[in-house]
Amino acid sequence: MTSESIKLQQVRERIGHACAQAGRPVPSVTLLAVSKTFGPDAVRAVAAAGQRAFGENYVQEALDKIAALADVQPPLQWHLIGPLQSNKTRVVAETFDWVHSVDRLKIAERLSAQRPAHLPPLQVCLQVNISGESSKSGVKPAEVPALARAVAMLPRITLRGLMAIPEPAGDFAAQRAPHRALRELFQALKADGLALDTLSIGMSADLEAAIAEGATIVRIGSAIFGSRPAAAPAA
Ligand SMILES: *Cc1c(COP(=O)(O)O)cnc(C)c1O
Repeated sequence: MTSESIKLQQVRERIGHACAQAGRPVPSVTLLAVSKTFGPDAVRAVAAAGQRAFGENYVQEALDKIAALADVQPPLQWHLIGPLQSNKTRVVAETFDWVHSVDRLKIAERLSAQRPAHLPPLQVCLQVNISGESSKSGVKPAEVPALARAVAMLPRITLRGLMAIPEPAGDFAAQRAPHRALRELFQALKADGLALDTLSIGMSADLEAAIAEGATIVRIGSAIFGSRPAAAPAA
């Protein structure tokens, strides 16, 4: 067994345990393996252990990796989880399956207009700035309902739900608080009539707290691939 496959198995066990604690079925949580800064060989090893969905932060890095891994069968599913500028929307619309980091209407409109007709609609989450940090991207919670209604109308996009990157917190209760705030926002949107099914929360350090609050996609990098080089740009 490769070290990647052992760590992948350990993460699956953490997810299974967290689901049991929360009284949730294990298939209600999808594991997204975050491969940013790691090369195609590492992704290939994780894919060989049965992982299909991979998350990337930087568009150019992702494009190189997606091209290098185009031969993998069954095909890998690629999720963009990092910031997206308007000059990169076309190539993202042509290449990715999901974008978790939509935080303004202009980006969503471009992705919808540029999504090729032969592909299924692009699956999208709105990134919410749930901890209110000025440095992080994401739409303010108060602006989410209007943005969600507008994005949900776009023809070549399917709005699936919300994503957040909460500030790191030490203990379980503190980790749950921002995840709970995002879940409450998500439930309010659903009560308002939007057909959403995705809460993209939970990283290596806090996946248990995220699953306790209803995460349906956990985005796990270092617990699978190991720690990233310190020189890598921050997410
Ligand atoms: C890097 C990153 C992750 C994974 O973080 P880990 O702590 O390595 O699990 C998840 N989500 C986003 C948006 C990231 O940038």
